[in-house]
Amino acid sequence: MNHTTEKSSILLIYTGGTIGMMKNPVTGALENFNFDQLLEYVPEIKGFNLNIYSIAFEPPIDSSDISPESWSELVRIIYSNYERYDGFVILHGTDTMAFTASALSFMLEGLMKPVILTGSQLPIGALRTDGKENLLTAIEIAAAKHEDGTPIAPEVCVFFHEKLMRGNRTTKVSADNFDAFESNNYPLLAHSGIELQFYNQNIKPYNPDAVLTPHYEMDPNIIIFSLFPGMQPEIVKKMMRDKKLKGVIFRTFGSGNAPRQEWLVKALSQATLSGKTIVNITQCSTGSVKMGLYETGRQLLESGIISGHDSTVEAALTKLMFLLGKGLGAEEIRQQMNISIAGEVTL
Ligand code: ASP
Repeated sequence: MNHTTEKSSILLIYTGGTIGMMKNPVTGALENFNFDQLLEYVPEIKGFNLNIYSIAFEPPIDSSDISPESWSELVRIIYSNYERYDGFVILHGTDTMAFTASALSFMLEGLMKPVILTGSQLPIGALRTDGKENLLTAIEIAAAKHEDGTPIAPEVCVFFHEKLMRGNRTTKVSADNFDAFESNNYPLLAHSGIELQFYNQNIKPYNPDAVLTPHYEMDPNIIIFSLFPGMQPEIVKKMMRDKKLKGVIFRTFGSGNAPRQEWLVKALSQATLSGKTIVNITQCSTGSVKMGLYETGRQLLESGIISGHDSTVEAALTKLMFLLGKGLGAEEIRQQMNISIAGEVTL
């Protein structure tokens, strides 16, 4: 395996996030600084035998401010530069990185080049920063090729603290630790120790005939609703009846269970009958929904609710936004939810 071939070209896309922030000496709060300043902290980049170019969001944004418009902008940048580069590295705040990675995995249909998202828990200028290691390894992964010249990781990934993960399987799990992301329901794509070890059997196979088809529309008229003991019927019923609401990511207990209360089953059935899509995913951080297992889950199946299988909340949410954005009807969405579009579910 030839991890970095002669002069591959990589495009670094800087959106913002802690990696490129500096402490304001007056307020003490972290604020963005510009991309050229950021690169000054990583002179090691010049050591790569690569052509590295960069483009930055102006102004850079804290990832709490990321929106579907930001995702469309990233799709536009990647699509218009697709032929010129061998791989893409997106520097992004950690808070919503899993949402962006999931969204891009659907919006970049037919992607056959690496799109690696990374960021850091400490700014790149901080003494103990994790940003350097994350950035340098992400670049190496984006440029990595097999001996036949095809990319090793031709999909949307998150690289963070030694782990390369399928982007739409990731979740941010720690606000404090350097090891901040997990891919609970899918194995790692690579591990970076002394050597960069790829697990090719877990990576999407390269398809020379695939054509990149960009999608820009996401329909955000949906909501994530997490069940809890003591939910109040009037509040839930009102939400389910909302005219603008087109879909619900329904976070249930255990293997996909909800309280056996008539008002709830009725509210859910009425919502699905009126054309809303309700996707059942578990509140547990690992495992899958199996709605037929208990009576408390079976009643949901009868209410027209769709299984989200072992989706993360980020993948289920962005997949539903994507399918609604394509203008699909409830039945087509049901079918698409039951297939894996970009490796986001295990079926
Ligand atoms: N608030 C920052 C962001 O998500 C946190 C980070 O980058 O780690 O943009």
